[in-house]
Amino acid sequence: MDLLAKLEGLAERHARMKALGGDAVGAVMERLLSPTRAIIEGRETILAGTNNYMGITFDAECIAAGQKALAEFGTGTTGSRIANGSYALHKELEQEFARFLDRRHCIIFSTGYQANLGMMSGLAGPRDTIYLDADSHSSIYDGCTLSGAKLVRFRHNDAADLDKRLSRSEEDGGGKLVVLEGIYSMMGDRAPLADFVEVKKKHGFQLLVDEAHSFGVLGPHGRGLADEAGLEDEVDFVVGTFSKSVGAIGGFGAGNHPYFELLRFAMRPYMFTASSSPASIATSIAAIRKLAAEPQRRRRLADNSARLFSGFKALGLELGCDEASPVVAVRCPDEPSTIAMWNALLKAGVYVNIALPPGTPNKMCLLRCSVSAAHTDADLDRIIELFGAVVAQGHGKKVANG
Ligand code: PMP
Repeated sequence: MDLLAKLEGLAERHARMKALGGDAVGAVMERLLSPTRAIIEGRETILAGTNNYMGITFDAECIAAGQKALAEFGTGTTGSRIANGSYALHKELEQEFARFLDRRHCIIFSTGYQANLGMMSGLAGPRDTIYLDADSHSSIYDGCTLSGAKLVRFRHNDAADLDKRLSRSEEDGGGKLVVLEGIYSMMGDRAPLADFVEVKKKHGFQLLVDEAHSFGVLGPHGRGLADEAGLEDEVDFVVGTFSKSVGAIGGFGAGNHPYFELLRFAMRPYMFTASSSPASIATSIAAIRKLAAEPQRRRRLADNSARLFSGFKALGLELGCDEASPVVAVRCPDEPSTIAMWNALLKAGVYVNIALPPGTPNKMCLLRCSVSAAHTDADLDRIIELFGAVVAQGHGKKVANG
């Protein structure tokens, strides 16, 4: 039996998509000109699908910090911190993040994916139960699988449904971990944190919030949804990534628990993989200092998100959520029209993300945009104009006017 035979369905789907002209995975950025511009298929293209929320990837100080670390610490760490040792840079980054997050402890990981895997499997074990929002990111589901904990899913953003499920659960002596996201990565909506905190007061679970898309973006200090909602004391553990607002690679977990540091010896995705490269760690340190010192980036992102949201609304596009968000999902009727629109947009000079089932909630077909603080008004108006033109040309006709 050929082990890869099970990929036949995937091969057929891939071929079908290619025949429709939508090789989204195959789109190559031949050259990056800025956080919001790349050369794709030989054309200068506006990037509106990068998660580069703060537009910090070409910042001169971040680049200089990365270059200096490359020269001083070399190209790679060549091992895990547990087996091969920590660099001063690791410690500095953890201290910098703990300070920014106003948490006693912070542990950094090689990616945000590993941060979720590590934190969830470190916190919960086979005797515990993890309650997940149905729309949780794959890294959260995978973290749950790795932990061996019992998984209970509740309806997306529905605190009453979580309440019901917790009320029904029998006391088994195990711990309970509830996981939410600050901004959901596909639809751009936020968790109604205050509602969940009410349920927490009633049932007494521990709460982890993945602020991957909201870190640097929301709140008076840029710490995410809990910062915005004034509910940080109710959140036991925060997870996030450096791959979005921070413009590098890596992830973090943070908390105040007196045993938190011991998680380093209980998280396989921390212990058994190489720590991220010196250049990436150093650019993250420079970036977090910038995010702390330049709140205007957050304000600019909020203005830009509002501009794209209202422009799309005026076109009659059906969006993933009812509030301005740096993640803007345009709902499309079906796979062929999504691919046709994606292609037409790329040819016209704007790059967005295709998101199709099973990677989307409720089998939706989406063109997912992410807004950057580095987008100019003219960029955003051009993106809106091109979406309008593509819809008017009949690609994804049913999208217009809902
Ligand atoms: N959590 C969420 C909610 C995400 O959207 C992502 C990445 N898109 C991750 C975690 C993983 O982050 P990373 O890319 O750093 O692995």
